[in-house]
Amino acid sequence: MRFTAISIFPELFAPSLAVGVLGRAVDSGALAVDVIDPREFTTDRHRTVDDTPYGGGPGMVMKVEPLVAAIESATRADEPPPHRVLLSPAGRPLTQARVRELAALPHLVLVCGRYEGIDQRVVDVAIDEELSIGDFVLTGGELGALAIIDAVARYLPGVLGAAASTDEESFSEGLLEYPQYTRPAEFAGRAVPEILSSGHHDNIRRWRRQQALARTAARRPDLFARHRFTAEDEALWRELGVGESAANVYVALVHHPVYDRNRRVVTSAITNLDLHDIARSTTTYGLAGYFVVTPVTAQRDKAARILSVWTDGGEASHPSDNRGEALARVEAVADIDAACAAIEARHGTAPRVIATSAQAGSDALGFDALAAELRADPERPVLLMFGTGWGLAEAAMARAERVLAPIAGRPAFNHLSVRSAVAIVLDRLFGLRES
Ligand code: SAM
Repeated sequence: MRFTAISIFPELFAPSLAVGVLGRAVDSGALAVDVIDPREFTTDRHRTVDDTPYGGGPGMVMKVEPLVAAIESATRADEPPPHRVLLSPAGRPLTQARVRELAALPHLVLVCGRYEGIDQRVVDVAIDEELSIGDFVLTGGELGALAIIDAVARYLPGVLGAAASTDEESFSEGLLEYPQYTRPAEFAGRAVPEILSSGHHDNIRRWRRQQALARTAARRPDLFARHRFTAEDEALWRELGVGESAANVYVALVHHPVYDRNRRVVTSAITNLDLHDIARSTTTYGLAGYFVVTPVTAQRDKAARILSVWTDGGEASHPSDNRGEALARVEAVADIDAACAAIEARHGTAPRVIATSAQAGSDALGFDALAAELRADPERPVLLMFGTGWGLAEAAMARAERVLAPIAGRPAFNHLSVRSAVAIVLDRLFGLRES
């Protein structure tokens, strides 16, 4: 495969192309890189390639004529026109999938900007694609061009030793790569994970896949959200313990007794949003259930009507609407005792009741401490109480064994919706964290 870099600093390319995998690829003829300097296409005594920007502003802009002439000189009369790429922070981010596609082309021209960038008309008349190598700004496109040459070369036949090398690494399957180890077996008190010395190839493969899933979830939620889970991935994900410690935990959304803004004990109204969103959060984190607590029969009837839209109404029949699964697990009960009784009937033991508050005292239970307790005793049922209105009234607080620490926001305005508070608390207690 042939590359032509267009750069006013041609000397930047040779050192990188002389060593390692790229050096061998050049020697074997799998890869050829030419560099053309736009200064060769200037007509003035000073070989000027830049000028001040129209409209003013800092820095200089690369001129259109030498750059377009240099790009055009890369096309040979006896070959199909090359694919012309401009390195630009404003371009589309380069991905492994795009690298693989580029590797199938016979000839790439890589145009390297300098200064504040290049005249837009270069792009208009002589560029097929703009690519960025990341959300940061370099002083020039040469390192980006070398990055593309390096990434593309790895796909060229004969360039990498083992054909599998490009298959198993980060991004090839939309996941980040698992951690790698080599000798010594122990360094600075850190041992290589035992499984890697077990000789059991399938267990090693499964461990690596599990690590790749966990890493991607923690570091690249964007990739993780797009990942298509295989049946094995589902099993490996469950093994990581996600949702395990939540399996016997319930949420109660209390509408009475709660305070209003004047600290009077009131009964708040059920809202569609709270029913819907908290049901989805509790199901997402693998909780056992969600109780909506109100003594008002008409309010519980309203909840039942709202829920039925998704559980047995027309919405439920929509093929892509899986909210019914979450909403079917919501139970409306008259008071906190009824929620506890329902849990006790199911588990044979009364739940530990943990309250939440925006102003818990110094004896509040920390998130990590509660998460550790739940992991240590996952069988014990737990009811997490959240208050609507201006928070759980004293009588509700009295039902709780402990109060969870508040979510610390800005002191001047710390006023989360209860739906947000539930989601944050559940993520802190049960969300996957990178170890
Ligand atoms: N003013 C330009 C902007 O904000 O988009 C930045 C110009 S930069 C200082 C000079 C040249 O470096 C660019 O024309 C481009 O060729 C190259 N460059 C800088 N950052 C890049 C990135 N993240 N990806 C690809 N090329 C980059």
